[in-house]
Amino acid sequence: MKANFWIPSSKLAIAILLLIVSWSVTVAQETQPNTVLFENVRLFDGKSAQLSGPTNVLVRANKIEKISTAPIPVDRSAATQIVNGGGRTLMPGLIDMHWHTMFVRPTPVQLFSEDFGYLTLMAGAEATDTLMRGFTTVRDVGGPSFGLKQAIDGAIVVGPRIYPSGAVITITSGHGDFRKSFEVPRVPGAPLSRQEVTGVAIVADSPDEVRVRVREQLMLGVSHIKLTAGGGVASPNSPLDASTFTEAELRAAVEAAENWGTYVTVHAYTPVSIQRAIAAGVKCIEHGHLMDEPSAKLMAEKGIWLSTQVFPAELGNAFPPGSEERAKFEEVFAGTDRTYKLARKYNIKTAWGTDIIFSQALAQKQGALLASLTQWYTPAEALIMATATNAQLLTLSGKRNPYPGKLGVIEEGALADLLLVDGDPIANIQLVADPKKNFVVIMKDGKIYKNTTAPSAMTSR
Ligand SMILES: [Zn+2]
Repeated sequence: MKANFWIPSSKLAIAILLLIVSWSVTVAQETQPNTVLFENVRLFDGKSAQLSGPTNVLVRANKIEKISTAPIPVDRSAATQIVNGGGRTLMPGLIDMHWHTMFVRPTPVQLFSEDFGYLTLMAGAEATDTLMRGFTTVRDVGGPSFGLKQAIDGAIVVGPRIYPSGAVITITSGHGDFRKSFEVPRVPGAPLSRQEVTGVAIVADSPDEVRVRVREQLMLGVSHIKLTAGGGVASPNSPLDASTFTEAELRAAVEAAENWGTYVTVHAYTPVSIQRAIAAGVKCIEHGHLMDEPSAKLMAEKGIWLSTQVFPAELGNAFPPGSEERAKFEEVFAGTDRTYKLARKYNIKTAWGTDIIFSQALAQKQGALLASLTQWYTPAEALIMATATNAQLLTLSGKRNPYPGKLGVIEEGALADLLLVDGDPIANIQLVADPKKNFVVIMKDGKIYKNTTAPSAMTSR
């Protein structure tokens, strides 16, 4: 009896819910114009070090349709929003190439103990903040970001485009193996550790195991594969000087990824781990803070990407003074200057990302960290790196690119990820460090997520 009563009423509840959902989606579509015209803007197009003169940019659906110094006639039959740029700068949305969507907000203890639904909701809130900082795309290099990515792409949660790598693949005791000593030895056939079950990081200790783990990530829909080729700062069991995977293991990963049309990127600080990864066919090195002349030269010769960053000094405070991790951090921190100088000297293809983890406070500095590149680059070079250059690295995903189309540039036909900046970021790159104040319009995929310019014509004529 109870069942008979409940089935129809739960069906009714679902029907009402669907009605509400479809109604609110309709409302969202109605209030979101299909065409947006930016009038009187100066362009930083992601490629040129100079701003353009006054220009008009027409966005239709999710693409930049027309760029012109002459007035652009607007299709009056469609709902059109006109943004009066007032001479402000229109630039491509920023791209962070080393991001861990799922690890930004939780503490390490939370990451390994809290309910994953809660962690995902936490990551969703951070994803919204990330987009509101002007980062319209992130390349995730470790962590189970698939559910959140799906929710963002499905307009359930507001956030950036995510290029996911899935779980970091590491070796026993490698960077990313956060197991405790009491979990050793691992018994063959025993259940996986929590970090493995949740897809944070997974251990593989032979070419065959690497192949299985890589193929699993490919099955989950990654755009690239991430392995740790050497020791790391934050993991308790991997000395910085350690080279972790063998060349055969790295090659197994590269083979599996390339069979799927994509590439492998590795976490590597030291010359040995960098050179071994390149020998195995790896296309991109994350960090590289301890590289030397020969490894820099090799990267340049082979066209290998360096995806690196300036670690904020306060990150060191996460590790107690005198601890092994603190010493490792200081060694890596000290290597930053040499690495950027080598990257410049040998003209290595260099991408930029932040690698902010375990700190919502540090995440607020995402733009400030980009601005700090001016220790080695001109503001224009830094901004080009965080837009068009980063987007060029994203194309290595080939057909596994989840967002086919051009990113990181303002040109006709490119995807409409745009920021309207109150000022000239080439003259004053510090503008990107205060996005709340200075990014007056944030658009991703043709949709406006923020607009604090004076209210303008919304026509439906
Ligand atoms: Zn990382």
